[in-house]
Amino acid sequence: MRILVTGGAGFVGSHLCKRLLDLGNDVLCVDNYFTGTKDNILGLLDNPHFEVVRHDVTFPLYIEVDEIYNLACPASPIHYQFDPVQTTKTSVHGAINMLGLAKRVRAKIFQASTSEVYGDPTEHPQRESYRGSVNPIGPRACYDEGKRCAETLFFDYHRQHKLRIKVARIFNTYGPRMHPNDGRVVSNFIIQALKGEPITLYGDGSQTRAFCYVDDLVEGFIKLMATDDQVTGPVNLGNPVEMTVRQLAERVVALSGSKSELIFKPLPVDDPKQRCPDISLARTLLQWEPKVALDQGLTRTIDYFRAMVNG
Ligand code: NAD
Ligand code: UDP
Repeated sequence: MRILVTGGAGFVGSHLCKRLLDLGNDVLCVDNYFTGTKDNILGLLDNPHFEVVRHDVTFPLYIEVDEIYNLACPASPIHYQFDPVQTTKTSVHGAINMLGLAKRVRAKIFQASTSEVYGDPTEHPQRESYRGSVNPIGPRACYDEGKRCAETLFFDYHRQHKLRIKVARIFNTYGPRMHPNDGRVVSNFIIQALKGEPITLYGDGSQTRAFCYVDDLVEGFIKLMATDDQVTGPVNLGNPVEMTVRQLAERVVALSGSKSELIFKPLPVDDPKQRCPDISLARTLLQWEPKVALDQGLTRTIDYFRAMVNG
């Protein structure tokens, strides 16, 4: 199979490229290196079945492939708010271009959507049927509404052009190769803990999230892509073990043997108060559920960042 991965030099994309190569596919990674790096895919460059193209998905792409995984989009608030207009363009124009490509070559196409389509949710845990509570004019809207519009486009291409689509709504995911400066909670806390700096809890740290290890997520992608053609999603993919941000900080401090203290900073605008996936659909449809426990995943991620901090 010839498979295109957009955003393939990013955190999740680089793990996906590796897994798809291990399964015996030809992989074409397309990335503009906005948040991704060549270092993330360094270990793959020697593989003759792996190709990389520097390209921005807001422009059309003419290639021949059998499957497309569309991951291109900055994912952390710091990065997607850096150039919000470009973020919306990446989600919307990027989706149009990749759907157009899929239509021309009749490829099956996967969309990396997000739990952010649920906004600051009033239903908890979030099921796929929940329509969300998103502020359309706030600082997170470029990402949330961009991803919502991308979902709309996927379903319209499916209905109008009979395209085979697979939409995954991804919840907070962590692991090696997360960007060290993207401000996401797991990377921030680990780096602060390893440097002995104060751990920055936004608000009072009582907001909740549920954290999925990247290998589990990628397994979910592959299983969703392999489903029958009538399966479209959206399907939640995440680890339903919910915890407060403060509890996460305490685990990171304990597992890294750090002496860092916890300090409090203002809560960012529109920061969701609680988030946890209901993964019943993924369980029944894909026979999928996360296998890597938080302590195990955090330990691997701490090892990765320790090498970087000492490096
Ligand atoms: P990331 O920032 O590490 O990866 C995104 C990749 O897309 C980067 O390599 C970046 O350079 C590339 N990119 C950005 N704009 C582009 C453009 N216009 N053209 C080509 N490439 C472009 O983020 P990630 O965590 O690996 O996220 C991957 C996907 O998964 C994203 O679509 C994100 O929205 C989605 N997602 C991730 C999470 C998470 O917790 N990591 C949660 C929900 C959804
Ligand atoms: N957060 C925090 N300290 C940090 C970084 C993030 O308390 O140094 C909080 C943030 O306010 C949010 C949660 O951790 O409530 C998850 O943040 P992240 O940016 O990782 O993801 P998202 O908000 O998109 O779920």
